[in-house]
Amino acid sequence: MSGLRFQVVGEAFKKMPLHVETPQEPTSVYFGKYVFGKRQMSKYLSKETLKNFTEIVKSGKPLDRGLADHIAAGMKQWAMELGATHYTHWFQPLTDGTAEKHDSFVEYVGAPGEGVIEEFSGKLLAQQEPDASSFPSGGLRNTFEARGYSAWDPSSPAFIVDDTLCIPTIFISYTGESLDYKAPLLKALSAVDKAAVDVCKYFDKNVKKVYSYLGWEQEYFLVDEGLYAARPDLLLTGRSLLGHESAKNQQLEDHYFGAIPERVQAYMKEVEFEAYKYGIPCKTRHNEVAPNQFELAPIFGETNLANDQNLLIMSIMKRIARKHGFRVLLHEKPFAGINGSGKHNNWSLGTDTGVGLLTPGKTPEENLQFVTFMVNILMAVYKNNALLKASVMTAPNAHRLGANEAPPAIISAFMGTQLTELLDKIENAASEDGITLDSKKKMQLGIGSIPEVLVDNTDRNRTSPFAFTGNRFEFRAVGSSANCASAMIAINTVVAAQLREFKAEVDAKIKNGTSKERAIFEVIREYIKISKPIRFDGNGYSDEWKQEAAKRGLDCETSVPKIYDAYTSEQSVKLFTQTGVFSEKELIARNEVKWDIYTKKIQIEARVLGDLILSSIIPVATKYQSMLLDNADKTAKVFSIERAEKINATTLNMIEQISEHVSVLMQKVEAMTQARKIANRKETEKAKALAYHDTVLPFFDEIRYHADKLELLVDDDNWPLPKYRELLFIR
Ligand code: ADP
Ligand code: MG
Repeated sequence: MSGLRFQVVGEAFKKMPLHVETPQEPTSVYFGKYVFGKRQMSKYLSKETLKNFTEIVKSGKPLDRGLADHIAAGMKQWAMELGATHYTHWFQPLTDGTAEKHDSFVEYVGAPGEGVIEEFSGKLLAQQEPDASSFPSGGLRNTFEARGYSAWDPSSPAFIVDDTLCIPTIFISYTGESLDYKAPLLKALSAVDKAAVDVCKYFDKNVKKVYSYLGWEQEYFLVDEGLYAARPDLLLTGRSLLGHESAKNQQLEDHYFGAIPERVQAYMKEVEFEAYKYGIPCKTRHNEVAPNQFELAPIFGETNLANDQNLLIMSIMKRIARKHGFRVLLHEKPFAGINGSGKHNNWSLGTDTGVGLLTPGKTPEENLQFVTFMVNILMAVYKNNALLKASVMTAPNAHRLGANEAPPAIISAFMGTQLTELLDKIENAASEDGITLDSKKKMQLGIGSIPEVLVDNTDRNRTSPFAFTGNRFEFRAVGSSANCASAMIAINTVVAAQLREFKAEVDAKIKNGTSKERAIFEVIREYIKISKPIRFDGNGYSDEWKQEAAKRGLDCETSVPKIYDAYTSEQSVKLFTQTGVFSEKELIARNEVKWDIYTKKIQIEARVLGDLILSSIIPVATKYQSMLLDNADKTAKVFSIERAEKINATTLNMIEQISEHVSVLMQKVEAMTQARKIANRKETEKAKALAYHDTVLPFFDEIRYHADKLELLVDDDNWPLPKYRELLFIR
């Protein structure tokens, strides 16, 4: 082993920035080149087809075969001109990332042997039956039936990767249940659209559609590829299961917004170059807080499309990293002791008339509308805080939320001083209290003049999991490797349900003779009172907040498998079925999948950890120990007994320490294996996940403690794994 680590480290230092093919044209020229977007459609589709297609996308009505054939023909021509030979339905199974199965355009022209032509029909575009038996379905699709199908989502444009035309699709079982993230996301977006339009009509009759917007911020780590290959834990689990903290890590805060290292800059450039070709409007890039941690964020867009783009960029990032001798780590907590990675989901709603519903307006009506939406969102987040947490909770994200390091596994909302004052003012105003609610004078309450500076002026509270930042909420608890759809399904659905409830209450008051403005005002004021416990502007990372949150009745559960129960509570089932996003059967099935994934992730980590300890760490430690024993032996031979005893005292102490750590490691690994065996025998997915959480996971930190101590004791030359200081500071 000796010296091998140094060789790898040496190589990592040697790597020079690669030559990046920089575009010769301005970005706007090649932006979206590989996407079958508007520009391409008007070139490759007839006017008639384009018109019909645009209408279908707008209305969400099903596509007929004739139209599908026309579109497929245009798409094929475009794709072939760009070198595509294959096509695939690109979908989002419940595992991480995306899935695809490529088929070529090739078909026999007549009888076999008579030659081939390229074919791509409307049928192939619209629907496919991938052999889906090995995708998780939570028992919804019997494996021997293996029947699920993917269907085109025309609201998200097709694109070309390498030689393959990729068609964004939903993935559902033969009986219609969603087996993916996209299908329920589309339903949630439609639910919030309808509910929000109905509420908007109180303020502006012209509103016909409300869009949900998402602006994600992707955090990630880069690690040298050679070092990565020498770390089986990174390779197999995406995170380091061992490794003593580096003497220097993020204490000096010298990485955040620092100069981007040259090799990384070259990588970023190429990622962006690729992203632009796919129409992903990358905007921001910078160093993050932890060493070797970075962020990439585009300009926000419609949620469904923005989410597809995030999934696409995650695969682009992985692909380009290899060209630059890097591996990108999207795991939420690749390294202990320094920051983990999140994916802030900036979320807002906006109308087809161009009004941002979370943007303070200029007129009194717009401001009443703004307050209405804000308060309904607060109410939705308050009532469903457990569900929202469940929507972002995964085995890796649990290292960020609710573990030893902040933030806590508690959802609260940050509003900032100005909005808090405004909400307090509304809450405390008696209805006659100088508030004019008639339509002539509009609403007086300071609401008529919500400070327009708000946007620039919101306090930057970085510890809140759900923070208002001037014209949007930042859902910060989302994990870096997650499919944003999970969080977006939850937030859009809870808000949709809340808006429906709000409308029902206001309508009832109006029916009883209350004026519209007063009815809205009264309901809002009530909501402000009820939802108060969700508002928290203090330090979300403090211990006091955990206690305070528990007192307020917010969900404080930290066990991941238990957190998933929030999906099947009576309240959630009602919420999801009423909005048409999930049936109860789907909710139950999806939880089965979540528990299964949780179990498998912990299981793999436990195996890797056990293997590393037994076959890498203990052998190296005992080898060093025997060197020390040799040394002591020789000392005893050379010196007098008294002198030797004195000289050997330190050596023997080290030998004892090493042997103590080794023996504890042996015991713990054995005990962990036993715990796994018991867990594996549990009958249900939930029981298994709980057993892994309660009885296997706790060994990780204990084992790590002793292994990391050995790392400090054992000869650096012989240590088999690249150390943190090497993984994190190499360019
Ligand atoms: P931060 O200061 O929070 O790190 P960034 O500039 O990194 O900000 O990212 C902010 C993200 O929020 C961007 O993707 C941006 O386009 C997005 N965003 C801005 N306004 C809205 C909005 N109204 N709705 C949704 N997302 C938005
Ligand atoms: Mg942000």
